Amino acid sequence: MQAPLLELRDLTVRLGGESGPAVLDQLSFNAAPGEILGIVGESGAGKSVTGAAILRVMTHPLRQTAGEIRFEGVRIDTLPEAQMQRLRGGSIAMIFQDPLTALNPVFTIGQQLVQTIRHHLPLSATEARQRAAQLLREVGIPSAEERLSSYPHEFSGGMRQRVVIALALAGEPRLIVADEPTTALDVSIQAQIIALLVALTRKRGMGVILITHDMGVIAEAADRVAVLYAGRLAELGSVAEVLRRPRHPYAQGLIAAIPRIGAGLEMLPQIPGTMPRVDALPTGCAFHPRCERVMPVCRRERPDPMPRGAGTLAACWLEEGA
Ligand code: SF4
Repeated sequence: MQAPLLELRDLTVRLGGESGPAVLDQLSFNAAPGEILGIVGESGAGKSVTGAAILRVMTHPLRQTAGEIRFEGVRIDTLPEAQMQRLRGGSIAMIFQDPLTALNPVFTIGQQLVQTIRHHLPLSATEARQRAAQLLREVGIPSAEERLSSYPHEFSGGMRQRVVIALALAGEPRLIVADEPTTALDVSIQAQIIALLVALTRKRGMGVILITHDMGVIAEAADRVAVLYAGRLAELGSVAEVLRRPRHPYAQGLIAAIPRIGAGLEMLPQIPGTMPRVDALPTGCAFHPRCERVMPVCRRERPDPMPRGAGTLAACWLEEGA
């Protein structure tokens, strides 16, 4: 059987070290080639830490204390840093939230693209420049040849994010980790960038880990979704199934809060309360203080992700009859 493109097994990241509070706690999921896997949750759910852990760019005091990460069957969380550097920006690329800070303001787009292409691919300067123009065309930038001489500030926000996507493609990645790639953009531009990401994923057969706080973005773009809460997996399943019949009350709350065209002007439902701090997690199910369906067992025992039919996993005691 073909190994998954990306595999996380019981990934645990703590603040400080072995005895520190868990920011990610026994997180497991797979991603396949050509698949967009959405990771969704509120601030503090552990979404961005998951992306940083995959690329091994976590900063102190975050530290992976357990679990493993495999890319195309090879364990990468224990690779020597020199090997990891070759993977980063090459086979595994990252798209950040703010395109302005992701680009160097003192170099032209062409210089940045050519440098990145030549770092990862054995091409001459001329070939790399042709490849750079081709990438700009692929991400929908008009007059690609001329725009190679432009600086980042000469592009609009949406065009800058297209350039960032071109940079991510420069090393011919097989996996892209996109951390809130549309959050800094106007709503109308967001839809274009999401459509571009989906089209590139299908065309190139890459895998994409799409990190977002916005369930609407997941509904538009992702094939499967992992809903995180307090660093733990709350629900995992196909987007169609999770949107149609979310099993976990937290996923139900996120989906109920998606604005719908044609709906009345009434207030969208809210999930009461806030995400707990990682150093002050409640016992049992971390969501129990906010859950309208809390049962005595929820306060005592932590539910592991359990199969709930149609390929869905949910970490919730409901349907267990507990
Ligand atoms: Fe709610 Fe209990 Fe399920 Fe947690 S385990 S989401 S508290 S019903």
